[in-house]
Amino acid sequence: MSNEKIPYKIYLEEKEMPTNWYNVRADMKKKPAPLLNPGTGKPMTAAELSHVFCDELVAQELNDTDRYIPIPEEIRNFYKMYRPSPLVRAYCLEEKLGTPAKIYYKFEGNNTSGSHKLNSAIAQAYYAKKQGLKGVTTETGAGQWGTALSMACSYFDLDCKVFMVKVSYEQKPFRREVMRTYGASVTPSPSTETEVGKKILAEFPGTTGSLGCAISEAVEAAVTREGYRYVLGSVLAQVLLHQSVIGMETKAALDKYGIKPDVIIGCAGGGSNLGGLISPFMGEKLRGEANYRFIAVEPASCPSLTRGQYLYDFCDTGKVCPLAKMYTLGSGFIPAPNHAGGLRYHGMSSILSELYDQGLMEAVSAKQTDVFKAAEYFARVEGILPAPESSHAIKVAIDEALKCKETGEEKTIVFGLTGTGYFDMVAYEQFHNGTMTDYIPTDEELAKSIATAPKLN
Ligand SMILES: *Cc1c(COP(=O)(O)O)cnc(C)c1O
Repeated sequence: MSNEKIPYKIYLEEKEMPTNWYNVRADMKKKPAPLLNPGTGKPMTAAELSHVFCDELVAQELNDTDRYIPIPEEIRNFYKMYRPSPLVRAYCLEEKLGTPAKIYYKFEGNNTSGSHKLNSAIAQAYYAKKQGLKGVTTETGAGQWGTALSMACSYFDLDCKVFMVKVSYEQKPFRREVMRTYGASVTPSPSTETEVGKKILAEFPGTTGSLGCAISEAVEAAVTREGYRYVLGSVLAQVLLHQSVIGMETKAALDKYGIKPDVIIGCAGGGSNLGGLISPFMGEKLRGEANYRFIAVEPASCPSLTRGQYLYDFCDTGKVCPLAKMYTLGSGFIPAPNHAGGLRYHGMSSILSELYDQGLMEAVSAKQTDVFKAAEYFARVEGILPAPESSHAIKVAIDEALKCKETGEEKTIVFGLTGTGYFDMVAYEQFHNGTMTDYIPTDEELAKSIATAPKLN
């Protein structure tokens, strides 16, 4: 195999698609800290969680021992509409950079939602349907998750109620209409439909909303409606589990050609794509079978891993959700305007937080204008117009490839290209017009928001 030329695109066959998700927690000696009940300070029980989440998803959330969890056939059938996704050898980018490094990217933008989020949306909708529920509620910031979930709900004929951060609702009418095309109802948040929404509006009149606030509204809407549960598109262990399909396919494709990556890079918002991409490789590292470098890339404007603290914190502004131990900037943190909407969450997946804390993963932050520079460079060289979120990974992959150019090392770099940026052209416009900002929070600002974490730490 080794002297055979690697194709531009490594496609797996349908029959080579993974039949299990991989649960990296099973191979972690020190497990991620459990979710806590904010009232009692005790670990959340399955019974408590089942008011909010579907039963099967609660079981997955609490399962840190089973290494493999079978992907139900109905979900695999849906996956087959847009998976396996290609692993692309970035020959053109390598040539343009003049690097001896070999660069691969796993492209998850080949579906209507335009991102990897559909991998978990379809799983969560399936379990809601299986439980006989009427529908699900959720929040969306930039709109990718809401779009993915509305697609998944329409496939299983479930009602889908999306609370969309008001500023995005107004600025991204096209995303909103895609969701409505798939039958979802979309409410700008904060709204007067929930008690927590009314409270936030009374306290901050004229607020344009935040992800943390929309989460509080969506949770309330689920627990106060018969036959509804809440679903979340990132951060939770169950979401990283579903996203492991990305890493399993990547590993299968690389194994086919006997390729061993040296560095694996992904952007990190709540951590689901990165967690999914690295999981099987991290498993090998945890079991002592192989060694890899993993790099999480986050925006300099919302730097939870690189400048946050590892604490139990609230997951939402309204403080209705369980507490999670994670690298956090504090639930009161309001990031400066930044166009990578999917990377604006104040915390990070408990699994990735624990792996990072154990020194098994690195993290770096990138400035917005540098990220768009990389995005445009990539679009021109590789042809794909990347999402601003994904472009954080592109930026660092290029940096690593340029280091190889200096040292002459022929490293193999793999990164996750999570989606396309067609709905982000206002951001590209600002970049082209030179009006894009690069605000980075000061240490004082971060200390202030981190101080809003609960005192049980
Ligand atoms: C939501 C999103 C992300 C970030 O979410 P993670 O849970 O950190 O993966 C990254 N890229 C795209 C395209 C997204 O839509």
